[in-house]
Amino acid sequence: MAQQTQISRVADFYSAWLKRFPSFKALASASRADVLRQWSGLGYNNRAVRLHQLAKEITNRHRGKLPQTADELMALPGIGKYTAHAVVCFAFGQSLPVVDVNVRRVLSRTVWNIRSSSEMKSENEIWNIAAALLPKNKASDWNQALMDIGSQICTARKPKCGECPLYRNCASAFSPAFAVKFRTLKKIEPHHNGTPRRLIRGKILKTLYTGPKRFNDLLPLLNGNHAAAKRKFLRGVLALMENDGIIEMHGNGTSMRIALPET
Ligand code: SF4
Repeated sequence: MAQQTQISRVADFYSAWLKRFPSFKALASASRADVLRQWSGLGYNNRAVRLHQLAKEITNRHRGKLPQTADELMALPGIGKYTAHAVVCFAFGQSLPVVDVNVRRVLSRTVWNIRSSSEMKSENEIWNIAAALLPKNKASDWNQALMDIGSQICTARKPKCGECPLYRNCASAFSPAFAVKFRTLKKIEPHHNGTPRRLIRGKILKTLYTGPKRFNDLLPLLNGNHAAAKRKFLRGVLALMENDGIIEMHGNGTSMRIALPET
């Protein structure tokens, strides 16, 4: 839930979610439609689909209990090294490094003298360094401290070396290169007549919460008068949503029936 979403926004959803689905088994046995309804308002609905799939896997392969080793977690769908290590370190107290983008930046700067974020070291190099630096019996505190330094002090654009507890041991501390402003290219979001595709997906989903719809029923959700362009854009959005497991489509053309998946 917290992926690309602020914790303060997640807090209420999280409690309501746990009330509705108190275990992996409860989540696994719910329909996809119910899972998406419960997720309503949080956005990035693919996360709900992935969580639902994960709950089914954990229920089938591990009798509803989350495995406690990084290797077993990484064998589950949608769980990479970062998530697996974070879970076993923070939840189960195991001594493993946890490397997110912030930690990668802090360690790149501390160990090597780098001039900009584009010179950050490779994932592999950083995981190796992170493992070698891990203090005995203090992995959880250490990993969280590095994450905090990365998000609060050693930021990508303006590292505050004067406030940093690592500055005496940092190869890049007070580098003059940090004063150079760099431009970042803004990603242009796909949109229809200025409305981002993400918002159109949200509108479609909201409409489907009330029951299945025909293709033509959804066309008024798009603005503009160019009917052919609207149909083309809607077809593209629906294809992506079907691919993500968020909707099911039956039939063809304008009478196509669109619904939330029931399984
Ligand atoms: S001293 Fe500066 S560059 Fe080094 S880790 Fe701290 S904030 Fe980052």
